[in-house]
Amino acid sequence: MSMPFPIKVCAICSEEFELKPDKPGFANRCPECSVPDAPTDAEARRRMDADERKATAEANEARRSAIRDLLYRKDS
Ligand SMILES: [Zn+2]
Repeated sequence: MSMPFPIKVCAICSEEFELKPDKPGFANRCPECSVPDAPTDAEARRRMDADERKATAEANEARRSAIRDLLYRKDS
């Protein structure tokens, strides 16, 4: 049996993890928190927001034209 790895507490999520010699990222972060996904996350979120705004604008436009049709039909 090999030597156990030292147990560290993650500086980000406070979870205990084994500090393995080949662990990527910071020594005081668990493997989950070492994954460099923050920039892509923000990028994806920004892109989703833009899509959402576009979808909302299209939905509003569709509703407006539907109401316009309704009013027009009622008038005639
Ligand atoms: Zn963590």
